[in-house]
Parts: sequence; C-alpha cells; structure tokens
Amino acid sequence: MLKKPLKGVLHSLLSVAGWLKLKTLQQPTLVILTYHRILPMDSKFRDQEQPGMIASPETLQCHLDLFRSLGASFVDLQDWLDRKLAGSQLPKLAVAITFDDGWQDNYTYAFPILKAFEAPATVFLVSKYLDTNRVFWPEQVIRYVTIAPQQRPQAVHEWLRNYAGSLPFDDRPLTIEEADVLIANLKTLDDQTILEQLDRSKVSGEESVRQILNSEELIEMYSSGLIRFGAHTRQHFRLNRLADPSTLRNEIVLCKDDLEALGVGKISLFCYPNGDITDQGERFVAETYLGACTTTNGINVADTSPYNLKRFNFHDGNGKSRRLCFSTIGRSLILA
Ligand SMILES: [Zn+2]
Repeated sequence: MLKKPLKGVLHSLLSVAGWLKLKTLQQPTLVILTYHRILPMDSKFRDQEQPGMIASPETLQCHLDLFRSLGASFVDLQDWLDRKLAGSQLPKLAVAITFDDGWQDNYTYAFPILKAFEAPATVFLVSKYLDTNRVFWPEQVIRYVTIAPQQRPQAVHEWLRNYAGSLPFDDRPLTIEEADVLIANLKTLDDQTILEQLDRSKVSGEESVRQILNSEELIEMYSSGLIRFGAHTRQHFRLNRLADPSTLRNEIVLCKDDLEALGVGKISLFCYPNGDITDQGERFVAETYLGACTTTNGINVADTSPYNLKRFNFHDGNGKSRRLCFSTIGRSLILA
C-alpha cells in the first residue's frame, strides 16, 4: 500500500500523462467508457453491490463534462465502426459510452444525463434477465454473506464456506470487500453450477425489487434515438467456462434473436461477460456480430480490430474526480 501523500502525487502524475496523451493524439482515436450501475450516494443498492460496479450520477456527469471540455465528439459506437469501415473521416477524439448488464438504474439515473449531453450510448443486455426480478449470482452471494452466519440458509452457507479461504466467514457478516474476495474465488466455477447451488435455497434468485431493465424502458430509451443495445449473452455465462458448444452458441447467437424480438433495433455488437474469451466463442461472435467489446483497458484507433475493442471501466473508486479519471486513463496508456 502506498502512503496517502505518495499516492496523491502518483495520481497527479498519471493524470497529467492521461491528459497529455488525449491532447496530443496523432490519429483519430476512440475512447470507450464503460459503466455498470449508476447509483446515487443514498441508494440502498450500494450496500449490496461490488464497489467496482458503481458510479454515481455525478461521476458520469463529471466524465461527460471533462470530455466535452477536451473537445471530444460523443459518438454511437456502431456509427464509429461503420464510418471506420467505410473509410469516412473520423473525429480526432471520439468518445463512446457503454453500459454493461442492463441495470434498471441506467434508465433512471444515466439516461437523463445522456439526454442532457446528447451523448449516445450502447447498453449491453443479458436477454434472459430482462423483464424479470432475477438477480445475478454475485449480488446473490453478497446478500447471503453480508448477513450474520446464523441467518444464512444452511445449505448455501456450507457450500459457500468452501470458497471463503481465510475470510472470517463463520464468525460475522462479511464486509463488501471481503464478499468481493469470495466472489473472485467462486469464478473458478462455471456460472450454471453457481446458480444451481444458490438456487437450492428458496429465497435466492428472485426478489421483489426489479433491478434490471424492462421492455418499456428499453423501448423508451431506443425511441430517443440516443441509445442502442448490444448483446451480453442470454444469462451472463462466462464463455471460457462453457464446455458444451451448443450452450456456448445459444448464449452468443440466440441473445441477438431475443433482443431483436423486443423491437429495439438491430443488434450488431457483442460484449464478452467478464471479458472472458475462447476461440470457439470468438468464432460464434464473429459470425453473428459486427464487433465486440472486451474488458481490456486502452484506446482504439482505425486499425484496431472491431472484435477487440478496448475500454475504460469506470466506477467511483477510479473516476469520481477529473484527476482520478485522467489518472485511470494515464495509467493504462503508460503500462500498455
Ligand atoms: Zn457483465
């Protein structure tokens, strides 16, 4: 751990590096910003979520202000790719905004800000979660482990203990940071197995509060002309954990069919859950979509493959001020 003053100096240096890089671009460049949940500071969902998933509306607004002041053009991701393919002129600095997973808060908190800035965005959807109250497994795990051990359903408690390592799992409720460690440990398993284990307890999987977008919200967002949708698989299964080729294919290919049936336009982009890629998965993606987003940090230029789009994933922890935002960009460009 760096001491606080030293960390501040490092952030300042990196942020100057990030700013300089964006001010002295040698060729047309696309910066893709990624967000998951947009939640106000007083949202009750903040206590039930991994910190790396949350940005406040103020953080999103700060980034849009920042890029506007840099003279960036806010572009629709697919439009930028189409123009690149056609050999049309590209803005010197283009910024595309993406949201992963299709959280309901994107409609409530991000959409009004995007409209105010006239900034297009692409929301990557998990088709089988739309119009349901389903909860992704990491959020289910957080709910179980942040309560007292004796309140947890017995079967789930005993199963999760196998992945708790040295965490004080039997002693007290885990903190969100500790839950984050447990979630990372669980990622050695495939998503289907984790869901089945959690489903053994009746209270999991469904809850009264819907947290994922529904069809009406999707249609309203789409009708604005500002928001497009992309595919993020049917059930958010990480592709590198899917051994069965037909499941792999269904997750990738049928997600497009599910989404197009909703009447929210053509679905031409894909986003890899957790950034995990396999050769067979890549082949299905290339056969079905015109481009794909990764979780690799970096900027994109004209010769970047449309199937290997780099992004900056932002949350309050790495982007809640201009300096932090530039520092996150600077760090990845220096390390690249
Ligand atoms: Zn995701």
